[in-house]
Amino acid sequence: MSKSAFSRETKRVGALRRYDVLDTPSEASFDRITRLASGYFDVPIALVSLIDEHRQWFKSRQGLDVSATPREIAFCAHAIQQDDVMIVSDALADPRFAENPLVTENPNIRFYAGAPLRTHDGYNLGTLCVIDREPRDLTEQQQAVLKDLASLVVDELELRLYGLQAFEELEENQREQVELKRLAWIDPLTGVYNRRYLAEVSEKEFNRSRRYTRPISFMMIDIDKFKLINDQYGHAGGDSVLIAFAELARKLLREQDCFGRFGGEEFLVILPETTSDEAARVAERIRAEASGSTFQAGDSGVAITVSIGISTIDDRDADLAACLKRADQALYQAKAAGRNTVISSDSPAEQQQQPIQAIPAA
Ligand code: GH3
Ligand code: MG
Ligand code: MG
Repeated sequence: MSKSAFSRETKRVGALRRYDVLDTPSEASFDRITRLASGYFDVPIALVSLIDEHRQWFKSRQGLDVSATPREIAFCAHAIQQDDVMIVSDALADPRFAENPLVTENPNIRFYAGAPLRTHDGYNLGTLCVIDREPRDLTEQQQAVLKDLASLVVDELELRLYGLQAFEELEENQREQVELKRLAWIDPLTGVYNRRYLAEVSEKEFNRSRRYTRPISFMMIDIDKFKLINDQYGHAGGDSVLIAFAELARKLLREQDCFGRFGGEEFLVILPETTSDEAARVAERIRAEASGSTFQAGDSGVAITVSIGISTIDDRDADLAACLKRADQALYQAKAAGRNTVISSDSPAEQQQQPIQAIPAA
């Protein structure tokens, strides 16, 4: 093959690969065309043959059992060299094909007519061909029909490609949408929900609880003396502690609880369908686990404590803000009571758990 023919052939194979059709299952739209061809020309065999680098592969076949043959013996490999219909009236009488195993053995080809599958940009990908075991010929008018059917095959290939591309674009858009939502909702440092998302969910859950007179609780968690942690372990050390605490809290919460970073070293938990007592139990578990754990900041192990304020929806609350404010006030009381403490805004102060003084470990 000359250099320019070689590069032309490379481009042709490239064009074929572009359709992403090789080795795909049979499809009704192509089978319909080969069925039509076989019936119209009254031949036992009709094929949509695609000429790959070293083989011909059949996207659709009537009357043939094999899905591919080597390119060297393919009639269609000859047919794609021309733009018109290639007709072999009697293969045994044609020196190019007389010794061809497809002629001398099964499927015993005698008559072959193939119309190139020509793309809009001028590449012959393969053929639509009809084959008989008897010598035959095609009239001009029949050749025109074969060419029209070949054009239909190319149209189907193009449509199929547009479909694939549109589907891929759709998937890509969906992935982008999901990613954008994730970016809009997630706190980049800790990977938990951010304040914006918490605001949306608290509003929605608060209103739902009010509508159906169901309980809902909110938990404000603030890490105690966090400034000291930053001072001692640096900002990066502080960041590690925030990440580790977020993970710890998330594990202690239930699927239906919404946990996020409200800001700085403050976290909010939305607990739907949760009474004050239940919320206090969960909060106590978080407080205890936090104070009992050692968090890694660089090479150092850091001990922390947290204070937690809880509020539960109440007839007193004019709106969500009022309810959240009570959680905040409870948190403030927990700090005032000496930190490492859980306080519920609607329990009498004397029932609150006694504070245990704890200072971040060195
Ligand atoms: P308190 O027990 O009263 O809550 O004391 P505190 O030191 O935790 O409270 P304060 O609100 O005065 O300090 C919070 C500190 O958290 C101050 C701020 O520099 C630090 N902080 C806020 N956001 C981040 C962050 O993303 N990373 C780190 N490392 N520190 C942060
Ligand atoms: Mg703090
Ligand atoms: Mg704070």
